[in-house]
Amino acid sequence: MPRFFSGMGYNARMSLQYDLHSHSQASDGTLTATALVQRAHAAGVDVLALTDHDSIDGLAEARCAAAGLPLRLIPGVEVSVSWDGQTVHIVGLNLDPDNAQLCAGLASLQTFRDWRAEEIGRRLDKAGIEGAYAGARRLANGRIVSRTHFAHFLVEQGRARSVRDVFKKFLVRNKPGYVSGDWAPLDQAVEWIRGAGGVAVVAHPARYGLSGNKLRRLLGEFKACGGAAIEVVSGSHTVDDVQRMAGLARSLDLKASRGSDYHGPENPWIELGRIATLPDGCVPVWDDWQLPLSAN
Ligand code: AMP
Ligand code: MN
Ligand code: MN
Ligand code: MN
Repeated sequence: MPRFFSGMGYNARMSLQYDLHSHSQASDGTLTATALVQRAHAAGVDVLALTDHDSIDGLAEARCAAAGLPLRLIPGVEVSVSWDGQTVHIVGLNLDPDNAQLCAGLASLQTFRDWRAEEIGRRLDKAGIEGAYAGARRLANGRIVSRTHFAHFLVEQGRARSVRDVFKKFLVRNKPGYVSGDWAPLDQAVEWIRGAGGVAVVAHPARYGLSGNKLRRLLGEFKACGGAAIEVVSGSHTVDDVQRMAGLARSLDLKASRGSDYHGPENPWIELGRIATLPDGCVPVWDDWQLPLSAN
């Protein structure tokens, strides 16, 4: 039974298809923001969040693309955070991309990204792989440089068979091209998102390889500094992960989000909107959003 009844929009809203985590060429996605929005619509998504890594640069284009479609675009971002010695991703949803503090915060992360890209290049160079920095920059095409761009370059150079292989061989801890992250502190990231009127969501919580206790500690700290939700359903979660995350959301009184983490058609096992529905008992992160469908 519905927890609330909001008149005319209710039935339509119940059946809306939400996908609240996706990437464009503004970060490490392979589709333009326009192509991403069109593909989401074709896949039956009604409400799409564009959440590029540390960048809001794709949002203006995405908004234009959505304007002519019955698709509601949620402005978002996926902020890189360093927490207890590891990298964690915090998605911000429904935020004001013009907020000055948020923009300044993201700019500081982009500065670190630029330095890190050069450092990754230097380390790969020492390992006998020349030109990786220039190659990754070329593929990033003026946007932020991510490890994914290095991975595409190394595949292009025949250094590995797949992006996944490159990560395993070169880009993770104890491998030649690994540089540890120095991203935003957790409370800062949440503050930037909330300051911009948005809601903070822990991205793909099952993917960090944390013990149950440590994950609870992360989520406890996240909640204490104003975080509101976790991705219960993610393109990278197994069926078991979804149940486990739903249990955590319920027991810690956090809302639940749902997002594919789509990066492009090269990953055929992940498609926009093609993810499980939220398990019973989860409170959707969108439950108090006002979403007129044609108001982009
Ligand atoms: P960065 O933020 O530049 O460190 O890059 C992180 C991105 O790399 C993630 O958002 C994923 O898109 C991608 N990534 C991380 N680990 C892997 C992996 N093992 N295989 C493929 N892609 C990965
Ligand atoms: Mn990515
Ligand atoms: Mn992520
Ligand atoms: Mn992502």
